Amino acid sequence: MAPVAVRFAPSPTGRLHMGNARPAVLNWLFARKHGGTFLLRHDDTDAERSREEFVTVIEADLTWLGLDWDARVRQSDRLARYREALEQLKASGHVYPAYESAEELSLKRKSQLNAGRPPVYDRAALRLSGAERATLEAEGRKPHWRFKLTPGVTRWADVIHGDMQVPAESLSDPVLVREDGTPLYVFTSVVDDADLRITHVIRGDEHLMNTVPQLQLFAALGAAAPVFAHFALLVGKEGEKLSKRLGALSLDEMRADGIEPMAIASFLARLGTSDPIEPRGDLAELVEGFDLTRFGRAPAHFDANELRAHNAKVLHHLPYAAVSDRLVRFQLAHPVAFWQAVRGNLATLRDIEDWVAVVRGSLRGRMEDAAFAARAADLLPAEPWNDQTWGGWTAAVAGATGTKGRALFHPLRLALTGRETGPEMKAMLPLIGRDRALARLRGEAA
Ligand code: GLU
Repeated sequence: MAPVAVRFAPSPTGRLHMGNARPAVLNWLFARKHGGTFLLRHDDTDAERSREEFVTVIEADLTWLGLDWDARVRQSDRLARYREALEQLKASGHVYPAYESAEELSLKRKSQLNAGRPPVYDRAALRLSGAERATLEAEGRKPHWRFKLTPGVTRWADVIHGDMQVPAESLSDPVLVREDGTPLYVFTSVVDDADLRITHVIRGDEHLMNTVPQLQLFAALGAAAPVFAHFALLVGKEGEKLSKRLGALSLDEMRADGIEPMAIASFLARLGTSDPIEPRGDLAELVEGFDLTRFGRAPAHFDANELRAHNAKVLHHLPYAAVSDRLVRFQLAHPVAFWQAVRGNLATLRDIEDWVAVVRGSLRGRMEDAAFAARAADLLPAEPWNDQTWGGWTAAVAGATGTKGRALFHPLRLALTGRETGPEMKAMLPLIGRDRALARLRGEAA
């Protein structure tokens, strides 16, 4: 068996979002799981729609997600290779020139549909005589090139769909190269997958039917076909198409919204399977539990609120290393202890600022009973403090004031943090430190 090689092949016509980041995550996990290679391929032959800036942002988004690639290809660098492959197909009689304009084709489709027939290309161009072709070319028409599908059932064992059998007659002969010479995805993808020895094509169901011409193209080019796996598409909670509100938000917008890359990766690794979506600290853990055969054929329901809830869970488990670069700016004295104390209280990392203010900012504690707080202040032990300090101190306050339970802990938390709830006080107290604690208990801003 050849070593596993997969690719993520975005068209640089927009930013990444949950839908189109999904094949990136799944292919990457599959590659890493099987010790294979993950190739990034920019499908940028469509000069009109492709934009350079999207090549850059897609790569930045992948890097943000933590996905690295072993090789990178741009289809726009391989145009000569596609021309060569087209010549090969011409020589072997697998393609034929067709001259219909877009308008003519659309009229044909309409009349077929009106007559209740499937809008499959009628192969009129295949019946043109040499003289008719010459006339069309003399009129200035340039041909586009269609691949002549072999009739009969095309069959493959899809990792997710199982045994697939599609009669080629149900499909139009696909256009491989436009009249202006632009090679199209269905074709370029096969040339690349063959040349780069891709072993598994893992992609969304929108490409399921492309597999028919693509399998035939591999054969026509004399190349071995990869294994195909088509995962079901993402839909909204109620089965509706994803809209911006419903998760077609770009990764960039999600990042601005405080969603962690690990939340997205771990969510996408399980969405569409019947396995629970679990928080994971890093990609290596995700790789371990990844199994492509767990994906089902039913559309995967995406709920942005579920992702937000998952994001919080991910944060609660995230190791300091995953956030260290975003915490340095706070110049905390004990960043690791701080992170471990507060992460369980975060919905997004933006909430961290509130807790930074508690340990090193300036706030005025909320005081319900100033006399009680003053007594407690007097009982604060000397530093150094550790996670035993809170227990010892509150026991002393209890002894001196006769309060216990909520009546004891609640006013102390309010005075020290300004909040009703939050991280465990035994972890917070040493981070707040004696000077701040003393001042806050006396009702001063500190
Ligand atoms: N550029 C294609 C897309 O973005 C790639 C499809 C494939 O994986 O074959 O949909």
